[in-house]
Amino acid sequence: MSTFLELGLKEPINRALTDLGYEKPTVIQEKAIPQIISSTDDLKAFAQTGTGKTAAFSLPILELLDPTNSNVQAIILSPTRELAVQIGNNIKDFCKYIKDIKVTTVYGGSSMEDQIRSLKRGSQIVVGTPGRTVDLINRRALKLGNVQWLVLDEADEMLNMGFKDELDNVLDATPDSKQTLLFSATFPREVEAIAKNYMTKPVEITSGEKNQGSDNVSHEYYSVTERTRYPALKRIADLNPDIYAIIFCRTRRETQEVADNLIKDGYNADALHGDLSQAQRDSVMGKFRKKTIQILVATDVAARGLDVTELTHVINHKLPDQIENYNHRSGRTGRAGNKGISIVLVNGKEKGKLRPIERIIKKKFIETKVPSGKEICQNQLMHLIDKVQNIEVNESQINEFLPNIYEKLEALDREELIKKFVSLEFNTMLSYYENAKDLNDLSSRDNSRARTVNENMTRFFINIGRKDSLNPAKLIGLINDQNIGDKIEIGAIDILDTFSFFELDKNFEDKTLEAFSSNRPDFDGRSVNIEITKKERSGGSGGRRRGGKKPFGKKDGGFGRRRSSEGSSKRSDDSGRRSERRSSDRPKSTGGDRKSSGFGRRRRER
Ligand code: AMP
Repeated sequence: MSTFLELGLKEPINRALTDLGYEKPTVIQEKAIPQIISSTDDLKAFAQTGTGKTAAFSLPILELLDPTNSNVQAIILSPTRELAVQIGNNIKDFCKYIKDIKVTTVYGGSSMEDQIRSLKRGSQIVVGTPGRTVDLINRRALKLGNVQWLVLDEADEMLNMGFKDELDNVLDATPDSKQTLLFSATFPREVEAIAKNYMTKPVEITSGEKNQGSDNVSHEYYSVTERTRYPALKRIADLNPDIYAIIFCRTRRETQEVADNLIKDGYNADALHGDLSQAQRDSVMGKFRKKTIQILVATDVAARGLDVTELTHVINHKLPDQIENYNHRSGRTGRAGNKGISIVLVNGKEKGKLRPIERIIKKKFIETKVPSGKEICQNQLMHLIDKVQNIEVNESQINEFLPNIYEKLEALDREELIKKFVSLEFNTMLSYYENAKDLNDLSSRDNSRARTVNENMTRFFINIGRKDSLNPAKLIGLINDQNIGDKIEIGAIDILDTFSFFELDKNFEDKTLEAFSSNRPDFDGRSVNIEITKKERSGGSGGRRRGGKKPFGKKDGGFGRRRSSEGSSKRSDDSGRRSERRSSDRPKSTGGDRKSSGFGRRRRER
């Protein structure tokens, strides 16, 4: 792999990249930078979001442009204001050590006068959304007669958004001699038409296979009905205490509704869509970037400009109308080398869209069950225990309080203490999910995809999960390593965050238990154990109250009033509308800092 200097960039640019922590070029940068520097040929680049394409087109332009000439030399078009602002800011960062380069970003929803003033002062690089760019051309405030580079970023999205006429106008305003650089994650017919009509024998480069999704993203689908779509969404959020996700919706209304419901139900969520003012959008995006908001509910368009590299999940509340857009959505996670999960909630009718998407992303969707209440509680408990194990104790600060506390708790032995502390944190959640229904839509199961629910199988719990880098292939390998017997059938596998389930031929139930207990296998240094679990039944999943024991902690479960259970007759969590009215039905964990609870969604603000 080359360095940025070896690609032909000058030292001041390299220094700025070092400041930004860019150590080496990405694949698209390695291909595009020398190509643009050495040739005036047009360029067609297949690049997903998150591959480093902004630097791929802007660095060679910065290398070549003439800082002593104040005419507009490069015009970069992007589909959304957010993306335009982001590109403009990136370029300013890249050229901070080069004198006299000015960048102006133009977009709707912001003062036209300010933008005109900035253009009048002379900018070599203009980044703009198509609509505002055309407005400024028509007002003669933006003159593109000397343009050497025209960049069409996310060309597919610009066409999706109906900017065909604007693109034509901008292309007409630029000289024939310019070099056109077209970047797109997908190449539907409309984008090919632009390439054909406006580009001359373009050189093609790609950052990976055309239209193929990132290798770092796994794709899962959940079968739901309209009634269970929202409760299933909440369960997915509850199963993942550290979730940091974008939930994609198709319309502004759907976006606002889902966000409102989540907020009312106590999640740390907000909405991002085109009905919000620019200031509101900036504020929401700022909070999401800082992780003050954990779940962002957004339309495709509004989320385009959002550059967040650490998303754990992308959730398709509804699939996009155009399946190519699935790639854009799922590409928001699994960035910068991180792993990500793209989840799709589908009803019986929508399932037909999965196969065409699989052909585009060249990956299979894994059918995943909506977690039961018991699984959620188990996951949350393990998450808490992990946190307890890893928490740093600040001796000097707590020392003065400890003698009193030791005295008060003197009568409790270790086991009682653990039980009390777990109950304090979880009584509410356990009762919330007490009679939680099975939300999986078994009726509409696609039998060609569905795992067989087989009475001849035993379901085992295993204490390792996704966080231990377990995946189905590794789990099968681990089971095979135990030499339980020849050709044993393995059934459904459910990998969850900190633990998992697998089904295995019932005839080998005892042998499997024996093998695991005598081999004492470890997985990446973690000792592995398994247990038999009861098969989940519809309407009666875990979290049952045991033997009428009173919960520990305060009478009402540690705080406030006791909440009704998820499956109780008082409320139906299977109806988004009913839970909407009862915001306090969200189970919240207790403890010193309610905000920090994964379950209550309110994260500790950083
Ligand atoms: P982009 O595809 O241009 O939106 O870039 C995605 C993310 O990767 C942004 O946060 C960039 O700052 C970052 N990035 C781009 N190129 C590099 C690089 N060579 N090394 C490290 N990070 C990069």
